[in-house]
Amino acid sequence: MKTEQKVPEGTMLPLMEAFYTIQGEGRFTGHPAYFIRLGGCDVGCVWCDVKESWDSGKWPILSIEKIVAGALEFPGRLVVITGGEPLMYDLGPLTKLLRENGFTINIETSGAHPFSGDFDWVCFSPKKFKKPHDSIYKVADELKVVVFHQSDFEFAKKHAELVNINCELRLQPEWSKAEKFTPIIIDFAKNHPKWKISLQTHKFMDIP
Ligand code: SF4
Repeated sequence: MKTEQKVPEGTMLPLMEAFYTIQGEGRFTGHPAYFIRLGGCDVGCVWCDVKESWDSGKWPILSIEKIVAGALEFPGRLVVITGGEPLMYDLGPLTKLLRENGFTINIETSGAHPFSGDFDWVCFSPKKFKKPHDSIYKVADELKVVVFHQSDFEFAKKHAELVNINCELRLQPEWSKAEKFTPIIIDFAKNHPKWKISLQTHKFMDIP
C-alpha cells in the first residue's frame, strides 16, 4: 500500500517572482535586496499594483531550499519577503533557512493573517480592505500607511495607537495620487513629527 507523506507546512511555497534590486521604500530605501514575492492575497486593495499575485494557484510551488538557493546567487544578504500577502503561509521554515544562510530578513505585510517567522524588520502596511490580525501590532518595526484617500490620515493615526512604542511611523503617497497627497503628507509630517515620509523611489528609478 502506498503511504502518502505530508509536506510540512511552510516548506513548499508559491513563488510569483524573485529578483535582486534596490529596496525603494520605507526604512531600507536604497538598500540592495533580494525580493521574494509569494503568490496569493485575499486583501483586495483597489489600487493594488500586483493584482496578478492574488491567485496563488497561478504560481509554481517551490521548495524553500530552491527559493534560498536563488537568493544565494546574488552578493547582497538582505532579503525582503513580500507578496501577495506573505503571512498567508507559515514563514517559520523559510526564515529559519534564510537565517542559517546568513541573511538579514525583512517582511512587508498587511498583517491580515497570524504572524509567523523570524524577521529582522517587520514593515506593517495595514489595509482598509481586510482587518489586520492582532498578532502584528507587537512585532511591527515600521507602520507604513499608503495614502490614497483623505480618510487614510485618520486610519494611520488609529493604527499608530495600536502598534508598540518602538514602531517607526511612515506615510507614503499612493503612486497615482502622489501629486494630490504629497503636499498634504508633508504638512501632516511637519505637524505630527513622529511621522516620516516614505516614497516609492524605485518607481522614480524605473526599477522593479
Ligand atoms: Fe495588493 Fe498588497 Fe493589497 Fe494584497 S495587500 S491586494 S498584494 S496591495
